[in-house]
Amino acid sequence: MIRKTFLSVAAGAALVVAPITAGPAAAAPVTGDDVTPAAVTVYYDASGAPSYASQIRAGAANWNASVGNVRLVENPSAATLDFYEGSDPSGSYAYTDGHGNGYIFLDHTQMGQYAQVRITAHETGHALGLPDNYSGPCSELMSGGGPGTSCTNAHPNGAEASRVEQLWSGGERTRGELRRIGEEVPAAAF
Ligand SMILES: [Zn+2]
Repeated sequence: MIRKTFLSVAAGAALVVAPITAGPAAAAPVTGDDVTPAAVTVYYDASGAPSYASQIRAGAANWNASVGNVRLVENPSAATLDFYEGSDPSGSYAYTDGHGNGYIFLDHTQMGQYAQVRITAHETGHALGLPDNYSGPCSELMSGGGPGTSCTNAHPNGAEASRVEQLWSGGERTRGELRRIGEEVPAAAF
């Protein structure tokens, strides 16, 4: 609206130079925004996966130790992210929009094969917006089952933490399309 007003003035004014230089100057505060918003909280509910509640909490704690723009807090009454456990031939997965909404399914078979906190932290990474990268090294959390069952790393690496910080830099909760994230055939998995 402001810019349009300037243009209208410019179109009707004999002196065009001053209104045109006012355009970029007015836009500067938008691109120069360096306000640091408070951390966004994602509330989760581990009660649907009682066998793995401590592992879910440990995975969340690993994320909280690595990022500052989003905090994971256990609070069933306010939860937008729910954990469940059971048996599924396609393994563990996240059904999420990557904005802290949806649910995470923990497969009993996989939880018996791979490092359990690596699985819970990995699936939580999906809920925070990260995709799978099965070909990555063990030091990368989102490589999931790619590095094999001997990989026990349950912490995001620097690049993963930076990406989540970037994704949550807006300082407010948003919603997106919920979709299933995980290997359909558990060759590498989760
Ligand atoms: Zn995954």
